[in-house]
Amino acid sequence: MSTAINPVPSLEAQAVVSVVSEIPDSTQSVGVLVGSDGAVASSLGFDRDRLNALGFTGAVGETLVIPPSNGPITVVVGIGDGLTDLRSVGAAFARASGKLTDLALDLTALPGSVDDPSVAEAVVEGVLLSRYHYPVLKNEAPGAPVERLTLVGSGAASAGAERGRVLARATALARDLANTPHSHLSATRFSEIAIELGPRFGVDVEVFEPEALVEMKMAGLLAINAGSAEEARLIKLSYRPEGAAGSLALVGKGLMYDSGGLSLKPSDAVHAQMKNDMSGAAAVFAAMLSLGDLGCTTSVTGYLACTDNMPSGTATALGDVITYRDGTTVEMLDTDAEGRVVMADTLILAREQGVDAVVDIATLTGSAMRALGSDIAALFANNDAIAAQVEAASENSGESVWRLPLHKPYRQAIDSLTADMMNCAPIGKPDAIIASLFLSHFVGDVPWAHIDMCGPAQADSATGLQVPGCSGWGARVLAHIALGFTPPAS
Ligand code: MN
Ligand code: MN
Repeated sequence: MSTAINPVPSLEAQAVVSVVSEIPDSTQSVGVLVGSDGAVASSLGFDRDRLNALGFTGAVGETLVIPPSNGPITVVVGIGDGLTDLRSVGAAFARASGKLTDLALDLTALPGSVDDPSVAEAVVEGVLLSRYHYPVLKNEAPGAPVERLTLVGSGAASAGAERGRVLARATALARDLANTPHSHLSATRFSEIAIELGPRFGVDVEVFEPEALVEMKMAGLLAINAGSAEEARLIKLSYRPEGAAGSLALVGKGLMYDSGGLSLKPSDAVHAQMKNDMSGAAAVFAAMLSLGDLGCTTSVTGYLACTDNMPSGTATALGDVITYRDGTTVEMLDTDAEGRVVMADTLILAREQGVDAVVDIATLTGSAMRALGSDIAALFANNDAIAAQVEAASENSGESVWRLPLHKPYRQAIDSLTADMMNCAPIGKPDAIIASLFLSHFVGDVPWAHIDMCGPAQADSATGLQVPGCSGWGARVLAHIALGFTPPAS
């Protein structure tokens, strides 16, 4: 089992981001923003007719590179009608700059940008994340991350640029962790990384090993871990700002690798992506490491239930019944429906802790992916106020969610002859909803939202700030939930 690689290279390769009034001499690539109509910056030396003749219409994401004989290149970047999809604007500029690492972009051409920090935030995220790659196991680097980004703008842009830098770092960290193959990132290794990095970012870390997990009756985590040669770990993260205004628990699914267990998955491309089945835990971890730098005033506890799911002679059998810490019994109909089984333990812990609300995030069901595709995560909630806070955070982070119903009549599909519930319904039922109903049992009446990020966990192409591979989805939306959190009435 190798642990020699660095699973979090993005933390060492952090970009310097600043807001100034003039472009510095070191800049290698200067972005000039041009809309689909209106004035064209005179610094370009081109008018709109000339741009049109070159095929440049000013649509969002369109670019035109003008390389001089010496000095920085100019990249004309389309912004459409002005303030839509600024992450794609930043991403288009960064991609058109190739492997150049010192970039500058004048924001003053954007209408209203001077007073709106969220503009700089979105542009910075687009620039930095579109140039991300996972370099650790490749002998030749496929690209170069941006090292310096200078924005020309006002003081108001500075706060947004800094927030964008921190949130891009969080997303890159989540991408690093999800992209790291299984043999390099076991539950134990993840817990070591948490212990190493947590205190550096103002987060206390407690790790619970198998003996403690038995004592705590973490029945789901232990049942799913039963077939594995690797031990399970429960990682508890605590962010406790002075004079906190409310308390929130974040629960992440941490399946370091999901083979399906005895309900073994077929050997196909989807199975080969299952190192990403800890993307929920990675998002919680990365979001929590950003809270101190973002000045978050909510008290946040993270619960990461980490294990792999393997078939062997000691694996949990189908038809087995497990008994949870709160007394609930569950019959295992299918060991590939393992995420909800593992997360139930931590939802019980969060409920017992007495927090104001719980938000969980998981690569939970193919059903959610089939319903909403790879751009949108499914949202479920037992409380409209917390659902609205997740939706608002999603608007701010640019990570889309769509609320689906927690339709209680479907609960009977997981009635069991021998236990209180089965862990899933027979094939053909709406599994995203049924999984949510299963999870909702364990939070009781605590305000709770569940984000099923199975679709957006993986990106197929370089689109907007996405690059192919694990997307790091969710780190930003969780950070925004914590930043904007108000205790909902239960
Ligand atoms: Mn599974
Ligand atoms: Mn899974």
